[in-house]
Amino acid sequence: MNALPDQQPIIAIATAPGRGGIGVIRLSGKTLAPLVQGLFGQELTPRHAYFRPFLDQDGQMLDEGIALYFAGPHSYTGEDVLELQGHGGPAVLKRVMARCLQVGQAFGLRLALPGEFTQRAFLNGRLDLAQAEAVADLIDASSEAAARSAMASLSGAFSQQVTALDHDIVRLRMLVEATLDFPEEEIDFLEKYQARDKLDAIREKLEALIAQARQGLILREGLHVVLAGQPNVGKSSLLNALAGDDIAIVTPIAGTTRDRVVQQIHIDGVPLHIVDTAGLRETEDTVERIGIQRSWAEIEKANVILHLQDARQPDDPLDQEITSRLPPGTPVLKVYNKVDLLEVELPCPATPDADSGATTLYISARNGAGLGTLRQTLLNIAGWQPGAESPWLARERHLHALQEAQLHLIVADEHASHDDSVLDLFAEELRLAHEELCRITGQFTSDDLLGEIFSSFCIGK
Ligand code: GDP
Ligand code: ZN
Repeated sequence: MNALPDQQPIIAIATAPGRGGIGVIRLSGKTLAPLVQGLFGQELTPRHAYFRPFLDQDGQMLDEGIALYFAGPHSYTGEDVLELQGHGGPAVLKRVMARCLQVGQAFGLRLALPGEFTQRAFLNGRLDLAQAEAVADLIDASSEAAARSAMASLSGAFSQQVTALDHDIVRLRMLVEATLDFPEEEIDFLEKYQARDKLDAIREKLEALIAQARQGLILREGLHVVLAGQPNVGKSSLLNALAGDDIAIVTPIAGTTRDRVVQQIHIDGVPLHIVDTAGLRETEDTVERIGIQRSWAEIEKANVILHLQDARQPDDPLDQEITSRLPPGTPVLKVYNKVDLLEVELPCPATPDADSGATTLYISARNGAGLGTLRQTLLNIAGWQPGAESPWLARERHLHALQEAQLHLIVADEHASHDDSVLDLFAEELRLAHEELCRITGQFTSDDLLGEIFSSFCIGK
């Protein structure tokens, strides 16, 4: 009899498409023993490497390689897992997979969806949700720093901190709820058990976790830096100069268009997506005008705006107009370019501009002067704390859940500070904070969220 649709055994080529030294086909299912028997005519002892021919139905050799069998629950997915390691060519792997599907037809074997192996690992309690996300982040990591942090998340560094904090919250709530049965003792409760001190300590820990999550989010998502300025001030030259030194892996970014050049570079392992915009100026030309509209749209979305100007015209009224139109709240780095054309020596350290609050510095995109300062200043004003590198990668939803939990704790604190402190409301806010933290590790999740997370995985993972 076939298994239920979502419990069917699954199969996928687990190695990247294309040619490679070896290629791995992976299968997972509640019971793979009959399938193993069908493929190899024998049982395989779990965790033993077997060098075997992979045969078709007529006994012709499709390939030969290593078969590894893991009996559930001691496997990646928590189910039975079979791995076939053969030669890494697309055609040979396809043939071996077709043979597996043929043998597995009787057991309902089907192709795996993206991330389905990891989803099963999550559903079977082998990983929590933050760890499952880290699997995808590790694979997608574009810098060594990102890979290091993803690995830390995967081994549970982030989840453990969240869980420890959650235990503190649950313990405090249990204290409160025990007191609820004796209403006349409410007022004494807070003092007797130092409930507010405990709450303060929890809030402090959460604050630190939020700061780390902000760092982790920057490391995962990268910073969006927009180069803004008048035509000919040297925006494209600066982009080339910054990208030219970058020895990190450069990944293409979806949505790159001709009129909007996005370059990914790394500074100290932090990915930066640098957008070169069409020069900002008044124009009659329709095409150029569209480009300029797009520039302003980019500027609205930026994490940091790098306003480039010609050092020879520091007080150009057009630049003053650009400055006045920049969105308030986004950090601005005012950079004067082409200092090589000036007679005078200019200060290289970044200085805050007294009038606008923007950080100001001087560079030459041509000879590279000031570029080192520029790189560090970019990270600084974006809120990156050098040396305080997040030990794990964070996603927007992690940061959001932590912030929501913090809001509930603030409200809890308000309830506790009333004269007639309302303990049941205090307890309720603690419960809500607990729920938020559980979202991170996946104890509270919706199918929609799971679908969204796992569909972004690659097939075979
Ligand atoms: P964009 O229109 O802002 O992108 O400016 P470009 O990068 O295309 O540069 C405009 C002109 O300025 C080019 O001729 C560049 O070679 C020149 N330029 C750019 N940066 C510098 C610099 O630091 N020093 C000098 N002397 N010329 C520069
Ligand atoms: Zn340009």
